[in-house]
Amino acid sequence: MQYDVNKIREDFPILARSVYGKPLVYLDNGATTQKPRCVVESITDEYYSVNANVHRGVHFLSQQATNLHEASRETVRRFINARSISEIVFTRGTTESINLVASSFADSQMKEGDEVIVSVMEHHSNIVSWQLQAARKGIVLKVIPMNDRGELLLDEYKKLFSEKTKLVSVAHVSNVLGTINPVKDMIAFAHSQGVPVLVDGAQSIPHMKVDVQDLDADFYVFSGHKVYGPTGIGVLYGKEAWLDKLPPYQGGGEMIKNVSFEKTTFNELPFKFEAGTPDYIGSTALAKALDYVSAIGMDNIFAYEHGLTQYAMNRLKEIPGMRILGEAEQKGGVISFLVGDIHHFDMGTLLDRLGIAVRTGHHCAEPLMHRLGIEGTVRASLGLYNTKEEIDALVEGVLRVSRMFA
Ligand code: PMP
Repeated sequence: MQYDVNKIREDFPILARSVYGKPLVYLDNGATTQKPRCVVESITDEYYSVNANVHRGVHFLSQQATNLHEASRETVRRFINARSISEIVFTRGTTESINLVASSFADSQMKEGDEVIVSVMEHHSNIVSWQLQAARKGIVLKVIPMNDRGELLLDEYKKLFSEKTKLVSVAHVSNVLGTINPVKDMIAFAHSQGVPVLVDGAQSIPHMKVDVQDLDADFYVFSGHKVYGPTGIGVLYGKEAWLDKLPPYQGGGEMIKNVSFEKTTFNELPFKFEAGTPDYIGSTALAKALDYVSAIGMDNIFAYEHGLTQYAMNRLKEIPGMRILGEAEQKGGVISFLVGDIHHFDMGTLLDRLGIAVRTGHHCAEPLMHRLGIEGTVRASLGLYNTKEEIDALVEGVLRVSRMFA
């Protein structure tokens, strides 16, 4: 298939706007992606013509809304190749998905002194969720170190396992370094030790084909808004055998079968984990987003973004004083950098004045900043609609800011 980026851009009205009189160059896709027309229209269409609360409704609209919501679950299942829709739990996003597993897993599967393995490059959501359980249950975090290119040290990883290891929880792609971690191999090793694995797919799902059965992940989590879908909805995939074993996370409507003051029984999967009115408008829009990227083809998106990342890395390296953080062999379109001693915040603020949206700071990965011995970086993160011209604009912008500080 011919990858027609200009045609793709037409699907995203926001990309045509300007900021401070300059054409917008949106390079903050790691934080959130822009939305194609079909996603935005799905939201208004459903509110205008279908809206009704899902499940249990006997009336026409409720059944139609329920059908849309459950069809979206099937779209998610197909997108990540889960075995069954019972394994697809809708949540508010990656953060809630991890907190759900951390809470329910720690409650039912862990005791004081048990260990969870995470990596040094995790997002705070995959650290603090476990620390909350550590404080509550006395469980211990073990941390996989990395080399200076930003690659996890797999020999060290293997040494962290003990009879107390109960779970590995690791990012598929780092939101700071862009490193694509070898999660399939890491899962295979963990399984050889009898340990299940949660994969944080927040930064992988938008950029590559993910097959949870091929990876053999026990849990896989992601956010809708990072894959061109709406905010407020995300996914927890869990193998049915695991989800069956875990207790509910929140109580309320939807997640029960029968309630009495003496005894309550819980609903079947996946509803056991979906207390309260679900974001059924969001699930339909998320399914539209997944259909949208599927139509372009995840392999095409990966190949296109890979080429663009290489181009960006090469061009950025031409800049005097450039320091790129994260040069893993397997790297996605997340590029963190610092130039000379220019503060990342100054660089980001001045780039913004040129219409270039990048992120600055610690990117919710303070332990990784400590490992790198820095406070923060400037981060350009690519999406399927970015162009070489936008990379050129970034390079020109960085050069211009550098000259101002020279
Ligand atoms: N994990 C990673 C790797 C991320 O990049 C992010 C978002 N920056 C999250 C988790 C949290 O995602 P959300 O805020 O959508 O829950």
